[in-house]
Amino acid sequence: MASEYVMKLLADVKAKNPNEPEFHQAVEEVLESLDLVLQRHPEYRSLKIVERMVEPERVIMFRVPWMDDQGQIHINRGYRIEMNSAIGPYKGGLRFHPSVTLGILKFLAFEQVFKNSLTTLPMGGGKGGSDFDPKGKSDNEIMRFCQSFMTELFRHIGPNTDVPAGDIGVGTREIGYLFGQYKRLTNEFTGVLTGKGLNWGGSLIRPEATGFGVVYFANEMLKTKGQTFEGKTVAVSGFGNVAWGAVQKVTELGGKVVTLSGPDGYIYDPDGVKGEKIDYMLKLRASNKDAVEDYAKEFKVQFFPGRKPWEVKCDVALPCATQNEIYENDAKELIKNGCICVCEGANMPTTIEAYKLFVEAGILYAPGKASNAGGVATSGLEMSQNSMRLPWSREEVDRRLHEIMIRIHDTCLATAEKYGTPGNYVNGANIAGFLKVADAMIDQGLV
Ligand code: GLU
Repeated sequence: MASEYVMKLLADVKAKNPNEPEFHQAVEEVLESLDLVLQRHPEYRSLKIVERMVEPERVIMFRVPWMDDQGQIHINRGYRIEMNSAIGPYKGGLRFHPSVTLGILKFLAFEQVFKNSLTTLPMGGGKGGSDFDPKGKSDNEIMRFCQSFMTELFRHIGPNTDVPAGDIGVGTREIGYLFGQYKRLTNEFTGVLTGKGLNWGGSLIRPEATGFGVVYFANEMLKTKGQTFEGKTVAVSGFGNVAWGAVQKVTELGGKVVTLSGPDGYIYDPDGVKGEKIDYMLKLRASNKDAVEDYAKEFKVQFFPGRKPWEVKCDVALPCATQNEIYENDAKELIKNGCICVCEGANMPTTIEAYKLFVEAGILYAPGKASNAGGVATSGLEMSQNSMRLPWSREEVDRRLHEIMIRIHDTCLATAEKYGTPGNYVNGANIAGFLKVADAMIDQGLV
């Protein structure tokens, strides 16, 4: 039962930010954990640290006009939420998807603050994007959109100010067009974006990093029960960058991925998504169709239109698609079918009610802000390489990523234990992420 203080705080956030249900959800989940800290440390309350953290330091909203291949003009809305810079420059991805709203980006920016803190690297939190829909767009249209987007954004960002990267709908191609336009407008070649191409300042392993990190994290979770990925059946949702990295690493560790999903439904591949099928995922993404059905046609496997993969029998579930794709009924299915570990590759794919079912059932459950931090952590490593103007080898980046994921895992467990909820990764991640940022805010005075 949440304290009165926390209940009032949540009510205030809801009243002050109407029609932003995802932001409310993200704040609620964090506040429930922070209750444990706020009771022990009244100074965070008197200094209004949480009240400050739920208010973005700055919100930028702008018009993005662009012309399609037929000469028609379109107007989209662009955003950058600069949420918190207590421990470093704002850092976080850009999402291009028709579902993007101010509320969605605020939830993502809020989560990013905690996630970036957990990586142990000096990165504040931010997020941005647009309601632009890349689906069905030509390469030239994508380029013109990115150029128009950056024509406004460039004045608000910089390698020591705010360092965007990719998220849903933004990969190396989009980062390239954005970077090109930034360079043209500023006449500077800097590490202002991460997820860059390898020939122009990008880091090895960055494309795979989020997915690799999720699996490294899940592996640590399994170890706590004396288990490994060897011989495990794994359900993955999504088919983009995060899913792609996760499938590679699961396969390498001896597990078998039997599902992928898109907005159109999911595929079930009993032989496992492996070898050339993993490469095919890149083609699916490049097709700009935002659908997974072609996989079923190409490899003659079953496709379940309009359904989610949580109904299949699996040992481990890796939700790698988007927010709110595991509801209570999905959680019940997973539990009933014997799933022992749910490790999030996406941001907030599980609702609060669903995650509580996992915790009650004693299933290993990790929130994305801890388990998918490998992407932004490797962005942090890209920033370090850019500052030094020296690239690291694949092995070097992978070793650092692996160490960071183990450290985040252990920090979550130790913090959960310290605050009286052993094994609760949600509390561990929220509290550990919070403390570092909160203490930095106190050190820096009332700002
Ligand atoms: N979009 C990713 C995330 O949700 C990565 C952000 C970054 O690399 O800055 O963490």
